[in-house]
Amino acid sequence: MTQPELPAAYGLLASAHLGGGRAPEAAFATRGRHTRLTERLPGQTVDAVLVHPGADCAGAHTAEEDTLVLLAGEIYNRDEIHDTLGTPTDATDAELLAGLFAKYGPHAFRVVNGRYAALLATGGRLLAATDHAGSVPLYVRAEPGHTLAATEVKALTGAGGDGGTVGAGGTVRGAPIPGARRVRGLPGVHQVPAGAVLDIDVAAGTVTAHRTWVPPVHRRLMDEDEAVDRVRAALEAAVVRRLPGTHRPLVVLSGGIDSSAVAALSDGVATAGIDTLSMGTDTSDEFPQARVVARHLRSTHREITVPSAELLTLLPHTVHAAESLDPEVIEYLLPLTALYRRMDGPARRVLTGYGADIPLGGMHREDRLPNLDTAVAHDMDTFDGLNEMSPVLSTVSGHWSTHPYWDREVLETLTSLEAGLKRRYGRDKWVLRAAMGDLLPAETVNRPKLGVHEGSGTTASFSALVLRAGAAEDEVAAVKGRVVRELYDRVVVGGAHPDTVDVEELTGKIVAEGRG
Ligand code: AMP
Ligand code: MG
Repeated sequence: MTQPELPAAYGLLASAHLGGGRAPEAAFATRGRHTRLTERLPGQTVDAVLVHPGADCAGAHTAEEDTLVLLAGEIYNRDEIHDTLGTPTDATDAELLAGLFAKYGPHAFRVVNGRYAALLATGGRLLAATDHAGSVPLYVRAEPGHTLAATEVKALTGAGGDGGTVGAGGTVRGAPIPGARRVRGLPGVHQVPAGAVLDIDVAAGTVTAHRTWVPPVHRRLMDEDEAVDRVRAALEAAVVRRLPGTHRPLVVLSGGIDSSAVAALSDGVATAGIDTLSMGTDTSDEFPQARVVARHLRSTHREITVPSAELLTLLPHTVHAAESLDPEVIEYLLPLTALYRRMDGPARRVLTGYGADIPLGGMHREDRLPNLDTAVAHDMDTFDGLNEMSPVLSTVSGHWSTHPYWDREVLETLTSLEAGLKRRYGRDKWVLRAAMGDLLPAETVNRPKLGVHEGSGTTASFSALVLRAGAAEDEVAAVKGRVVRELYDRVVVGGAHPDTVDVEELTGKIVAEGRG
């Protein structure tokens, strides 16, 4: 069997209980068909909804004997797993996870390189697992006799129980889960940490957390050539792993080194060539720089211009999809939200250059190596829960995005390089630029970093909105934070449709309250 182009499922919601429950209603932002299933295991019953792009989602679930596996997303080291387990080569990703669990128990998740959230029900236990980056967010609410889990917070607010706010007598529900963050506004709901598995006793509602990955804290010394070769090989392998079954990949291209490298390597793999897509606004774009790369690779290239006024109306949609409370992350993701929403037509596999700056320190215009490495270490310690890589940004319009720089092997390679290989000869991300020297035009290789929030004018437009609402210059950052929190409370916790929220009005109200 050839590998299907898209993951079998994009998202999931499950209710594990001891009987007497009812099948949950699912309110996903993710677009797709819904398949419901019920599995009665010896120690629990699981009712689930999978949201998926294809006609069926058979590859996303498997039940054998007393174990049920549900998977949203995909595995990238299938070949290694096949070699280890000796499974048939047409085994689905869910079957691979079941095989790994039979062999390694909960440690199965330590060996997987993927972009996924998984649930594994066995006996009276429910395991809730994320990939190393937590790139597919996963949330749980464990109570005695009943655990809920979902890939979107908002799917939990409507799924059974009392809506998940406050229990009988006004008491806050749900015991704390050591090591897992509580979700704002929804007592008892926790986010599964990145690179972790929560082992839940369904009858007792108790939870034990295990780490399956931690960011490297060591740094490696190596000569330039070796570092360059390793980075090139790791990134190329990550791109290859993301393209089986894909006839024509689509790369979202800014013309910066990160996305241009992904485009060039994709072009080397895809025999039919690639499509590239760039977005800009009426105030700002990087179209000329992206065109240089598109012309060089002879990609089929498309440009999308979004009016800034329209861009800002999509803020509630970004918060709705990413479920993030971080105003900077929302600013990065807003232009991409606009881009993905304009991508009509059949579901596509989208490769991005997202995330390269985190292990390489690209956002820190910093020459002193100790400071650069402090910044890298800090960013690697604090990415969890920001949901920067959430697939929901693109699955709202049916597309699957994947980020080669956050492939487990690439991330480990990049993070662990000593800072002098990242910043060298006065250039940021030196090792990556050197690794791509033969595949891209020199002007692309040497182009300074420009964040998508800068290149699209998003930061400036959002700041202008806040200033128009009456905020002072030095209040802008704080007001943006409050706007994002209020949006989260309305569209994620409160269940309001993002189209019903007027950003301008809400910002005005927040500025006025700040004055009061
Ligand atoms: P950046 O903040 O520039 O690192 O952007 C992260 C990723 O988003 C890039 O690697 C691209 O894949 C994508 N991206 C950024 N800007 C654009 C743009 N103007 N058009 C299309 N994709 C973009
Ligand atoms: Mg950029």
